[in-house]
Amino acid sequence: MITPVVNPCPRCGKARIDAKTWTEKVGKSTLTMTQTICPDPACQKIVEAENQKMTDKHEAFRQKDIERRLARERAKDEQKTTSKKENARQYPA
Ligand SMILES: [Zn+2]
Repeated sequence: MITPVVNPCPRCGKARIDAKTWTEKVGKSTLTMTQTICPDPACQKIVEAENQKMTDKHEAFRQKDIERRLARERAKDEQKTTSKKENARQYPA
C-alpha cells in the first residue's frame, strides 16, 4: 500500500515525521497540534536554519519599522519641547 505524502519536506520531498504532538486549548475546543520534521536529520537542520533566517529577516524588518516610527515620534516630541521652551522664554512664569 502506498501512503500518499501529505506533508512533504520542502527541501527533499520526503514525508515529514511527527516530532511531537501536544494539545492546545483554543476557546472551548482542544486542538491537537503536531510538529513535523524531516526524517533526514541533516535536511531538517537546513530547513530549520532557513526558517530561522526567514524569522530573523522578518524580525529585522519589524525592528527597523519600529525604530523609524520611534524616530518620527521623537522628532515630533523635540519640536514640541522646543516650542514649549520658546513659549516659556516669551512668557516667564
Ligand atoms: Zn528533508
